[in-house]
Amino acid sequence: MTILNGNVSQDLKELKNKYDAIVVGSGAGGGLVSEKLSLSGLSVLLIEMGPYKTAKDFNLNEGEAYLSLYQDGTNRYTKDKGIKVLQGRCVGGGTTVNWTSIFRTPDLVLSHWKDHYGWSQKMIADYKNKFSYIESKFNISQWQMPPNENNHILKKGLDKLNITNDVIPRNVKDCHNLGYCGMGCPKDAKQSTLVTCVPHFLKNKGTLLHSAEVQKFVEGKSDMTVTLSNGLKIKSDHLFICSGGVGSPTLLKRSSLKDDKQLVGKRTFLHPVIASSAIFEDEVLPFYGAPQSVYSDHFIENSKGCGFKLEVPPVHPVLLSSIVPFHGKEHRNALKSISNLNAIISLFRDGFHKESVGGSVSLNEYQKPEVDYQNICGIALENR
Ligand SMILES: Cc1cc2nc3c(=O)[nH]c(=O)nc-3n(C[C@H](O)[C@H](O)[C@H](O)COP(=O)(O)OP(=O)(O)OC[C@H]3O[C@@H](n4cnc5c(N)ncnc54)[C@H](O)[C@@H]3O)c2cc1C
Ligand code: SF4
Repeated sequence: MTILNGNVSQDLKELKNKYDAIVVGSGAGGGLVSEKLSLSGLSVLLIEMGPYKTAKDFNLNEGEAYLSLYQDGTNRYTKDKGIKVLQGRCVGGGTTVNWTSIFRTPDLVLSHWKDHYGWSQKMIADYKNKFSYIESKFNISQWQMPPNENNHILKKGLDKLNITNDVIPRNVKDCHNLGYCGMGCPKDAKQSTLVTCVPHFLKNKGTLLHSAEVQKFVEGKSDMTVTLSNGLKIKSDHLFICSGGVGSPTLLKRSSLKDDKQLVGKRTFLHPVIASSAIFEDEVLPFYGAPQSVYSDHFIENSKGCGFKLEVPPVHPVLLSSIVPFHGKEHRNALKSISNLNAIISLFRDGFHKESVGGSVSLNEYQKPEVDYQNICGIALENR
């Protein structure tokens, strides 16, 4: 088991000059890819810019968790500061901090890929055949416990209006229903890549280099040269870029990849979320219990191809303080009401409308990502 820290010079000396494969990013994509590669007996280096933190480090402290486990300490915003972009930055990536709602790719999406991106019927069938493998690997099933009050309020409202809703499948094993998934699971109950793929990868003689950012890569005739932000160069026969929706185009752009049509970073789609909240007379305690357990897809499909999913987020004080749109006394009062607060989120399916152009990722003056997002489902944001 080789775990190296990019901030420790002695650890950097243990790296080989060349690997069969390098995987950049250890989240949902990179975690699984590196595990599969290591099974084939190749020498594989998994590079992650964030730290290697495990259950013993996850102490339910929002301030600490956001600073150490998230991109820009949860302060990544779109260029005009209109949308907060939450992404993980640690071993396990988003899977270490996400809210454990795991859905199968809907038929609606698969048929869109077929109609617009040339997926054949066979590709779709092969893809669907993997669902049960993934569900069993990550222990995904509908949440069996009663929803917390935050989610229960959504269910009660939808039932009253005769709007279909269902229980969310979660990737957990022996979950204690704490509700702190966003700060890293202290019980190793969440089946993130941190507790599944990465340990398997390490057991299969894979090498993990954490706290090390890949600055760029150069494609040679027969191999790749990866340069870390400290200047260290490592060669590899194959390179897998699994650095997330913002990180991957950032790395491609820094690498001066041949991009004649200027496509890299274009059509970047977020799932823009609108939150609505209410203060109830009775206690809701929206920070306790499985964060998301009830959902509705009633509004997901509409004639404009721009529907939304209804869910309920976990509401913890620091997160709440960063999103309530008030100042001073009003802000303080909103935070004081947290115990009685219920929040509901509408997650837009951007990218399916024929006029959806999405956002773009470019590099700022420090070679860091800048996400510009001016249009949702074909509607310019300033016109809303
Ligand atoms: C708070 C939160 C809640 C969420 N809840 C849900 C949910 O309930 N259900 C759901 O389906 N999805 C949820 N998501 C989204 C989900 O986690 C992501 O879609 C998923 O993790 C994306 O996988 P990925 O492999 O593309 O990228 P990521 O998981 O983001 O992994 C990319 C990794 O690459 C690393 N990286 C980036 N650039 C470099 C570089 N240059 N060098 C080295 N490393 C680099 C990053 O640090 C990161 O760890 C949530 C996300 C967040 C942040
Ligand atoms: S709710 Fe379950 S998965 Fe989430 S942090 Fe608590 S024990 Fe872990």
